[in-house]
Amino acid sequence: MTDYSEIKAKLLDKQQELSGRLKATQATEGHEVEEGLDSNAQLWEVSEVRDGLDDEAAEELNQVNEALARLDAGGYGFCKSCGDEIGEMRLEALPYATLCIDCAEGAEELVKEALDPDEY
Ligand SMILES: [Zn+2]
Repeated sequence: MTDYSEIKAKLLDKQQELSGRLKATQATEGHEVEEGLDSNAQLWEVSEVRDGLDDEAAEELNQVNEALARLDAGGYGFCKSCGDEIGEMRLEALPYATLCIDCAEGAEELVKEALDPDEY
């Protein structure tokens, strides 16, 4: 059985970093609403950008949480699509990967083929 303790530590780090980031943005938001009452247009733009960042962080946090759940449940490290092992190298680079390199590349290749069918 593969030892995922280093990867788990990495995921827990990431989880802390992301939830810290989300909490920080949420904390500053209330503050700025109070101070920026006379520049509503600008405030709106700023919070639009921040919402985008929040979404990204929340989405990544979701993936991290899922990976940690799979680690505990025992399904971690296997491709969602073909069921093969994802491989340690790939997991180290992308600890919350849910597809093996073949399936991930296959998905990319389909996109390439659609863009330029003559090359394949
Ligand atoms: Zn696969």
